[in-house]
Amino acid sequence: MKELTRDEIFNMPAGIELNALVAGNVLQISDYEHIFHGEICIKCHRETDFHSGRIYPDNKRTCDIPDDYSADIAAAWLVHQMVVHKLFSVRQRYFEELQKLVSAECTESGKTVIAYPDVFIFVKPSHFCRAALLAVKE
Ligand SMILES: [Zn+2]
Repeated sequence: MKELTRDEIFNMPAGIELNALVAGNVLQISDYEHIFHGEICIKCHRETDFHSGRIYPDNKRTCDIPDDYSADIAAAWLVHQMVVHKLFSVRQRYFEELQKLVSAECTESGKTVIAYPDVFIFVKPSHFCRAALLAVKE
């Protein structure tokens, strides 16, 4: 993650790049799982035959696309849980960055500056992801 600056992470929008960075650097996974809804993976659109176990068209067992940690609150919660079980110094950086991220966004949109613990009123999945990346960056 050396190539990314603090500002680049701080300002990174929700999306596949942020999701992949979080998967690799926070959750430390590189093989993603398909999420089948019915017979279609909602991420890569491969099709499965539940009777044969075969995945069409190429029988690829891992998904090419990470989960949507930066927009899906249930997925983002996994990121949050991973970080809050790390060392105190990492947790401390995480909560500081979380507050800065939410405050920066609320200030931009004309709302009052947000102090802890009100930060949790306005927190979004992408904030968890960016704060987690900044916390583990050292
Ligand atoms: Zn898939």
